[in-house]
Amino acid sequence: MNGDLQQLMEDSLAGSALALFAGDALGAPVEGLHLSTIAQHTGWVAEMEAGVRFPAGTYTDDTQLMVGILQALAEDDALPAGLLAQRFAANYEPWRGYGSSTGEALRRLRAGEIPAQALSRPSFGNGGAMGIAPLGVYFSRDPAEVAERADAACRTTHHHPEAIGGAVAVACCAALAARSRFSGQALEMRSVLERLLAMPALRDTPMAAPLARLDPLSGLPRLTPRARAEALAGSFEATLRAVESVPIAIGAALSAASLREAVEVAVNTGGDSDTQGAMAGGIAGAYFGAEALPASWLAVMENGAQGRDYIRALAKRLAAQAPAA
Ligand SMILES: [Mg+2]
Repeated sequence: MNGDLQQLMEDSLAGSALALFAGDALGAPVEGLHLSTIAQHTGWVAEMEAGVRFPAGTYTDDTQLMVGILQALAEDDALPAGLLAQRFAANYEPWRGYGSSTGEALRRLRAGEIPAQALSRPSFGNGGAMGIAPLGVYFSRDPAEVAERADAACRTTHHHPEAIGGAVAVACCAALAARSRFSGQALEMRSVLERLLAMPALRDTPMAAPLARLDPLSGLPRLTPRARAEALAGSFEATLRAVESVPIAIGAALSAASLREAVEVAVNTGGDSDTQGAMAGGIAGAYFGAEALPASWLAVMENGAQGRDYIRALAKRLAAQAPAA
């Protein structure tokens, strides 16, 4: 990869990874609340606040799973069977808000009570999609490879077709966002949706209909951020299901004029706010880059052993080894 392109890849990967973290941390304190409840209590979530159990800027399971994906890519980007499961289990911190069945499986895998392949569940949740966006950026040279790798990575924890469709959609959308940035092209909502729906890996899957439901919303970029959140909340149910939360995140990311807007709209739509913020940040960060992260967010994002500096350094290392674009 030539120097300029490697620099762009680094900014896109770091942007995706750090904005995923930012969206997760921004959304975590309001996770599970309805749009109208968020509006009543806080007006509009725009800055990192403390949650009931965490200080401001703390990430949850979404970012912890992403860290495992980045580590596995750095170790062996062919992602041999079991590698992701081992990374997820090694990083697992129960207090980060994992779903109870995933948390229990990670604990048992780490204790040596179950093999890596026993981590996978037939869940239609968004667990396979929440940390996947930077993987899409990493393999963005080849959209078919992005789809194949996202499918395999998702199966580590979730093997329901809806979960896999969600992971593939987020990874491919992040890849298209990165490619738009590399080629200096605008990220246009309708054309990205058309390209996603034309992909064999999405066309005949349970993700196709939810993505098609975003098409009538292609006027979203002309609305205010609050009106965008209201339109998304009116079109999709606020649930953990990948077929509902993934299109919310994609709609928020593709209609935004800035990284901040993408993450804020995804969080303020309500429902699975942290995961929606993570997925929207992971996509929009690939396009806008790490420089677009608001300084007020970065200042409070946790910076311990696997915090923001560690994640930025991993992105730099991955950019140097990513397949040439
Ligand atoms: Mg979470």
